[in-house]
Amino acid sequence: MSDEQRAAFEEAYALAMAFHDSRTTRRPAATASFDELWEVLYAPTPDDGMSPPEVIRQLAAGVDAGLMGEAGPRFFAKVIGGSHPVGVAADWLTSMWGQNSGSYLGSPANAVVEQIVVEWLLDLLSLPACCSIGFTTGATMATFVCLAAARSTVLRQIGWNADADGLFGAPPINVCIGDDAHAAIFAALRYLGLGHDRVTRIATDDAGRMQVAALSRALVSCDGPLIVIVQAGQINTGAFDPFREIVDIVHLHGGWIHVDGAFGLWARACPSLIQLTAGVEQADSWATDGHKWLQTPYDCGYAIVRDADAHRHAMAYEASYLPAAGEECREPFHYVPELSRRARGFATWALIRTLGRSGIAAMIERHCLLARRMADRLGSEAGVEILNQVELNQFVVQFGMEGPPERRDQVTRATIKRVQAAGICYVAEATWHGRLVMRFSVISWATAEEDIDRSADSIIAAWREVSAGYSEANERAS
Ligand SMILES: *Cc1c(COP(=O)(O)O)cnc(C)c1O
Repeated sequence: MSDEQRAAFEEAYALAMAFHDSRTTRRPAATASFDELWEVLYAPTPDDGMSPPEVIRQLAAGVDAGLMGEAGPRFFAKVIGGSHPVGVAADWLTSMWGQNSGSYLGSPANAVVEQIVVEWLLDLLSLPACCSIGFTTGATMATFVCLAAARSTVLRQIGWNADADGLFGAPPINVCIGDDAHAAIFAALRYLGLGHDRVTRIATDDAGRMQVAALSRALVSCDGPLIVIVQAGQINTGAFDPFREIVDIVHLHGGWIHVDGAFGLWARACPSLIQLTAGVEQADSWATDGHKWLQTPYDCGYAIVRDADAHRHAMAYEASYLPAAGEECREPFHYVPELSRRARGFATWALIRTLGRSGIAAMIERHCLLARRMADRLGSEAGVEILNQVELNQFVVQFGMEGPPERRDQVTRATIKRVQAAGICYVAEATWHGRLVMRFSVISWATAEEDIDRSADSIIAAWREVSAGYSEANERAS
């Protein structure tokens, strides 16, 4: 490495530390508009090179005002983790090591670490030790992998080889999915040729849980291959489907149960919460993320399949230039679509090693308590309605209980805008059962009680200003 390349590293290290140290004081969202960022960052394709430390300096200076505060302590708008520093450190090394992690021979180090991490994850999530895991970019791709295994398996069971012959002329598969499933699942269905509209949507209750009676009714008229997609942790309410009852019904019909547990599956790593997920361990596949509750840096997801053969059937292939590894050793590319890819096992290893079983459980439990603390603060304010029971780390809230629904949507939007402008915490709008809401999610390792209290003050102040504005306008009008 040249002196200048080394200087680029030193620059990157100093900038990274300064960014990290500023996380509690910087605004929790980007401050520049698209035009402003473009203005700073745009240049025509460079003809000549530039010195490495200068490249790093320019990049960091140019993007700074466009960075969101996901890695900070008061970012509550999305269900995403906070890129824990130790995971980032492991990820830096991952890049420096430059391992091609598709195969054992491409990186024995990665293959062995992934194999260890598979055991750790199944242990932490209390899932059967026979399951296989593929390391993906996130829960969307993990869902894709799991549903590919599901699709091939339910067709193979009736004598159709979808992996060889595709879906042309194949018997139809019945796919049932809760009405409040995450949009990413519908995308995965689309990629697999199962269609995002060619599904039976099952009615949900007011927390977004699949209604067992509605599922039973849908299954009465359904014979043939069946996949049922359930949810551990609804994106707005954090609710869990009633797995025990669903598992019994679906397995009676010979169906495959897939679980979207992008964040909520991690409730299983916490002794005080695991009962919320009872029965989910009897499913056939699970998709979850590392970059949410486990706090790995982006990107990292896990595709978990009970029947490892079904998993490999859907993903593995052979090529003459990819000599098979030994019997005992797991081939990373047999469990995901990619061959050349990042070694995601290293950051996962580092996070689990840093926090340990007890640290992971304590963090998850703390996030749920902090979510409840915020919901209690907001819920005790006049004119604020928490729309779900806070079982996990998530809730949705509407401001302005009086008046027609459009009015509540308006004041909720106005309150969110004020909170964003105040710049203490970051929240955003979502829709829940036809209502515009503010979603609040506590899921970053960096969030402490004082962050919740400061944020509650800010949100309540914003709501008071908005509601005072509305009463004044009303008085003027009358
Ligand atoms: C985040 C999320 C997804 C999508 O996961 P990615 O990691 O963004 O691909 C799917 N389902 C739920 C419930 C989620 O929270």
